[in-house]
Amino acid sequence: MKIDMPDDVRMIIRTLMDAGYEAWAVGGCVRDSLLGRIPKDWDITTSALPQQIKSLFPRTIDTGIEHGTVTVMCKGTGYETTTYRIDGKYSDARHPDSVTFAPSLEEDLKRRDFTINAMAYSDEKGLVDLFGGKHDIDSKIIRCVGDPEARFSEDALRILRAIRFSAQLDFEIDGSTLAAASLLKSRLELISAERIHTELENLIMSGHPDRLKLLHSTGIDEIILPELAAAGQSSEGTLDELVSMLESAPHDRRIRWSVLVNRSGNALGILRRLKFDNNTIHTASGLIRFSTARLNGLTDAEMRKLMHDAGSENMPLIFDFRHVIEPGSDYSASEDQYKAIVGRGECTDLKALAVDGKDLISYGIPAGKEVGETLNRLLNDVLDDPSLNKKELLLERIGKDQK
Ligand code: ATP
Ligand code: MG
Repeated sequence: MKIDMPDDVRMIIRTLMDAGYEAWAVGGCVRDSLLGRIPKDWDITTSALPQQIKSLFPRTIDTGIEHGTVTVMCKGTGYETTTYRIDGKYSDARHPDSVTFAPSLEEDLKRRDFTINAMAYSDEKGLVDLFGGKHDIDSKIIRCVGDPEARFSEDALRILRAIRFSAQLDFEIDGSTLAAASLLKSRLELISAERIHTELENLIMSGHPDRLKLLHSTGIDEIILPELAAAGQSSEGTLDELVSMLESAPHDRRIRWSVLVNRSGNALGILRRLKFDNNTIHTASGLIRFSTARLNGLTDAEMRKLMHDAGSENMPLIFDFRHVIEPGSDYSASEDQYKAIVGRGECTDLKALAVDGKDLISYGIPAGKEVGETLNRLLNDVLDDPSLNKKELLLERIGKDQK
């Protein structure tokens, strides 16, 4: 059993071992290696204490010293190196009240969430698999380490992680793990919106968004997506529809979130509650606003008005979104029409109008709201007839002599 580790990781483990400590690659990187996937990052677990880790490497960052984590920097890449630890009691279903350093690798592995995430490896000592993680990888099973009810009571985030890993890896959740997830779902009320946001995003961006159905079958949707559940959007038939839309959607988080919340009747409410950044909220509400707008059979002038209304740069996203939410739709002629307008460089916003506020003021329009009104009127004319977008022609239209 040999895992192909990056040279840096081998060096870090070697250095710690040469100094008399134990050290291993651990968690997601071991899981992904056994799956033949490329690990996102490599984490190291060690018997060395943070100060001891720091003294062995020239460049380190104190990432979470109080939790035992030091990031060892190698040529610009960071490797989180964490002292064996045990999480103390969890009184809030999420944050351990205290973290204690653990005497052995076994204790450290025991605190990890799932068997597939609880394996350690080093070239020198091979694979350490105390909970049947390799077996569960081979059988494609997500299973808690230890008693699922106890583990989900300690940290309810694990409930969502189970579903998210099942979607990312195309694994099934073991029966008693799933039953415990359903039983303890109300503990998810204690999990922060940011965490729920991240896990849901991992789920809908995964290769198997059909695992969304697990949220419904367990009743978890009523806790983390009450707006969808209330709108009947997570009932059987609509859920199937939603899933196949997500399956056909491009790998774009703005589109996938918009698909998910589109028919909830309160899309904005969901996004705000899940603490989305303003940019994403803006884009998603734009997509949803144009979810029923007519796109086919528009005159060029109507298309330019739509581009002005939606923001020309948002049009490709709108077309993509509409393809997803209207399976079988064909907007290729409209997309060509849109591209042709862009290709001809026709004006669809104030920025591209051949006159600006300064021009109007030097032309004699009093500074103030009349300037804006005039600009908008001229823009409207230009949207109708792009050949008008010339300074002289526009100024002429205002009907005054240039000063
Ligand atoms: P990913 O590829 O998504 O990063 P990962 O398994 O590396 O997956 P991380 O969140 O990076 O997940 O966590 C690293 C490791 O820490 C996990 O593999 C697991 O062993 C442990 N872990 C993370 N979160 C928890 C948790 N909430 N409860 C218990 N163990 C956890
Ligand atoms: Mg990770």
